[in-house]
Amino acid sequence: MKQLLMSQPLQSNYDAIMIGGGPAGTSTAAVLASHGHRVLVIERDRFPRYRIGESLIPFTYQPLERIGMIPKMRASSFVKKYSVSFVQPDGKRSQPFYFHTRYDKETVAQTWQVTRAEFDQMMMDNAREKGAEVVEGTTVTRLLTENDATVGVEIKSPDGTLSEVRARITVDCSGKEAFTSTRNSWRVRDPFLNKVAVWTYYEGSKRECGLDEGATTIAFVPEKGWFWHIPQHNDRVSVGIVAEGKYLTRDGVRDLKAIFDREVLQNEWIREHLAEGQQVGDYFITSEYSHHSKYCAAPGLLLAGDAFAFLDPVFSSGVMLALKSGVLAADLIHQGLEANDLSPARFEPYGQAMRQGVENMRKLVYAFYNPDFSFKDVVMKYPEASGELTDCLSGDVNKDFSALWSKISEFVPLPDELPYGKPMPMAA
Ligand SMILES: Cc1cc2nc3c(=O)[nH]c(=O)nc-3n(C[C@H](O)[C@H](O)[C@H](O)COP(=O)(O)OP(=O)(O)OC[C@H]3O[C@@H](n4cnc5c(N)ncnc54)[C@H](O)[C@@H]3O)c2cc1C
Repeated sequence: MKQLLMSQPLQSNYDAIMIGGGPAGTSTAAVLASHGHRVLVIERDRFPRYRIGESLIPFTYQPLERIGMIPKMRASSFVKKYSVSFVQPDGKRSQPFYFHTRYDKETVAQTWQVTRAEFDQMMMDNAREKGAEVVEGTTVTRLLTENDATVGVEIKSPDGTLSEVRARITVDCSGKEAFTSTRNSWRVRDPFLNKVAVWTYYEGSKRECGLDEGATTIAFVPEKGWFWHIPQHNDRVSVGIVAEGKYLTRDGVRDLKAIFDREVLQNEWIREHLAEGQQVGDYFITSEYSHHSKYCAAPGLLLAGDAFAFLDPVFSSGVMLALKSGVLAADLIHQGLEANDLSPARFEPYGQAMRQGVENMRKLVYAFYNPDFSFKDVVMKYPEASGELTDCLSGDVNKDFSALWSKISEFVPLPDELPYGKPMPMAA
């Protein structure tokens, strides 16, 4: 296992550099290192580090399997998740959407509720085991360019020293800070999905039993706000409220605890489940978080995970999309390295596949936030839509969902697809 100490010098040339050691960075690195390429992951924080994004969905299975993580997940303490259910403000809980109604019970249909400090550490260790070099506590400060192509990065070490590392391709996996798309003015905010989330943790609160113990519960409050309720190991639960900022701060309430506590009273199921428990740790907030990059690639550069696109978290698609993009990106980079051709055009299928996935989820997210939409109405009229909805909610996002979208369009309008995600056009 290669574990670089900061005192060890980095090589000056790699096949690929990943900016960021989250799920996108470490999955890209694991696949490329398995192919025998020289790979460097540069991570600003020191792991384990806190992150939100704790509920996985079934289609994380395939990329996790690809990088050898499934046995490690099975051996972990992470709570097993078999379903998602929805709860009305009066506390009435829907029949859970069980993933095993669509997928193999022993594999895809069972996923996990993780803590990201532990999960991301496992992913980082896994990438190291495959042969990737990982430096922590080191920040990428600038892309190095020559003849309009990215040729590596400038990094700042913990002692403040600046140095340069070169690679044939740099993959921006910097998360929703979106290192490249922000600096290149490629970052476009979603026209509608600009919500605010406030969250915290409880210990000892009430849990469902049996198969439902690890279910994600989405619990509604007025004005299309919703709680996530994610049971974790060590008797902890992650609970967050997502809504329009002006709804959450109505009557001038700004204190995070006060915002959170007021919303708890808006949903009977959440109130009842948290009443038995004890709030622990901090309250967190994030806002305005759905965005897209106009381009997926440029000469010497590729974007993956949240750095490429980030969608409202209502259906917990973020880690699945990050892992999927990491594996897909790495496969194409491997082919490009072998062919000695890493021109942006090679990444067109990557951009298309990832945008198709994002757009399918995005349609469902838009429908969800429409006041006139309910899953129940759609399934009552079209019982076969239940399976299609479960597929999309499970993350099978590269399927053809056109039949589902035409059914849902009878209830609420769906958004036009955004014209983003191709490689940056090359100057003639
Ligand atoms: C409120 C909220 C709730 C969410 N809930 C869920 C959920 O339940 N399920 C789910 O799947 N997803 C969820 N997500 C989404 C999830 O957090 C992300 O989609 C996921 O973390 C993306 O992984 P990533 O590897 O692209 O980025 P990240 O996990 O953000 O990793 C990026 C890494 O890059 C590093 N980095 C950044 N800049 C630099 C730099 N300049 N130099 C070096 N390193 C750098 C960072 O330190 C970080 O470690 C949620 C998101 C939010 C905001």
